[in-house]
Formats: sequence, structure tokens, C-alpha cells
Amino acid sequence: MALFGRKVEVAPLTETDTAFLGEWSQPYATMVGALKAEFEDQVAHFVAQHRMTGIGLEGPLDREDRLLVAASACTLSCGWPGFRWTDVSEVLLYADDFDRDYRVGGDDGGAPELSGQAHPWGTVLISLPSLEDSFEDPHDGFHVGYHEFAHVLDKDSPAASGGAGYGGLPFNIDGPFATEMSKALDAARVALELGDSPLDEYGLQSPAELWAVTVEAFFEMPGAMETAHPRLRQLLDLYFNQRSAN
Ligand SMILES: [Zn+2]
Repeated sequence: MALFGRKVEVAPLTETDTAFLGEWSQPYATMVGALKAEFEDQVAHFVAQHRMTGIGLEGPLDREDRLLVAASACTLSCGWPGFRWTDVSEVLLYADDFDRDYRVGGDDGGAPELSGQAHPWGTVLISLPSLEDSFEDPHDGFHVGYHEFAHVLDKDSPAASGGAGYGGLPFNIDGPFATEMSKALDAARVALELGDSPLDEYGLQSPAELWAVTVEAFFEMPGAMETAHPRLRQLLDLYFNQRSAN
């Protein structure tokens, strides 16, 4: 877990890195001041400290691919100064095209279905082609990177709750704020069931998926979120804490 008080020095991002991120990451391109500096610092730590492994790729992982993974995580966390993704032990990047939550096992012989983010091992699985597509269209409400790292923030892992219907709230809120967030997410779920929400229907799978697609929509479709779910948008603004820093 977090090693408070222990400062780890890592190499800062290069100009090539920041130019690449400015081209690919719409949120980063709009950041200024302290928020931008925090994002860059967190991305530098992420790429330096997390093992990332390509599966089925020709040749080693590019620096650019590592940066897209790190940018996915740190887009969520850059409003929290000094945050480190200590629950992530490894990121596996697949050459195959799949969208969210790569699953293995499943129907075959009643084997348990293991979801893509695989918390018990601290391993995040992402399709590299889908990740690139996610960054290429920053306003469609679909982003596998935000989605999988939103699962990492979820306070209840499938391991802790037996798998079904777990989670749905981030670990770093509690008390009345958590209650308010729960209420707002529930209202969004009801709207989504009625076909009256910009959220992806995949969110109806479970509270954890509702949380993950909500995070995607928050970063990719702020206008639609404001219109459809103003209270939820407001709570997410407070949670991610990126406006005041900007
Ligand atoms: Zn998911």
C-alpha cells in the first residue's frame, strides 16, 4: 500500500513525452498550472514504477503506449496531489481488439468468470488497439483506460465480495459524501434503465460497471452529464478535484 513519507525520485517526462501527451490526451491538453504539473509528475512515476507487458505484440512496448496507460490512470488521479497507483502491480497490454473488461473462463465448464481488471492480482488488462481508439475519440464516452482504472479505485474488489454485484463506490470517499454519491449513481441507473441517460448501458451490469462507465462519461461527455445528471456531475467534480486546482 502507500508508502507515506517515502519520496521516490523518478526521471521527469521529456519534452517528447509531453508533446506526445499533448497531442493524444485531450484532458492533458487543456490542463494548466499546478494540475498540469501534478499530472506530469504522476505520469512520470507511473511509467517508472509500474511493470507493463505486451501480450501478442510484435516487439517491445513503445514508450508511447506506456504513456497512454499512465495518462489513463493519472487523468483520474491528478486532482489528488501525490497520489500513487500502489494497488496496480502490472498492466498487460493485448494486441487483440476487445473493449472493456476482457474475460477469461466464462461459460466453459462453469469456471468462474474473471473480469479484466483482476484486482486479486493487482493486474490490469487492456487491449492496446482499444486504448488507442479511446484516446483518438475523446468525446464519445468510451475509454477503456478510464474504465479499468476506475475499477481499481473501486473500494470492493470481486475477491472481497464473491464476484457478483460488487463495488460501485471509490475507496477514497466515505460518510455523507459516499451516501450522496450512492444516491446520485442510483438515480443515474434508474434513468439509464429508462433510456434517459448518456451513460453506456454496460453500466447496468452491476454497481461496479455503473461506476466505471460514469467515470468514462464524466471525462468524455461533461456537457451531456451536466444536462442529464447534474447532481452526479457536481459530486464527481468534488471527488476528482480538478477544477479548483486549475
Ligand atoms: Zn468494467
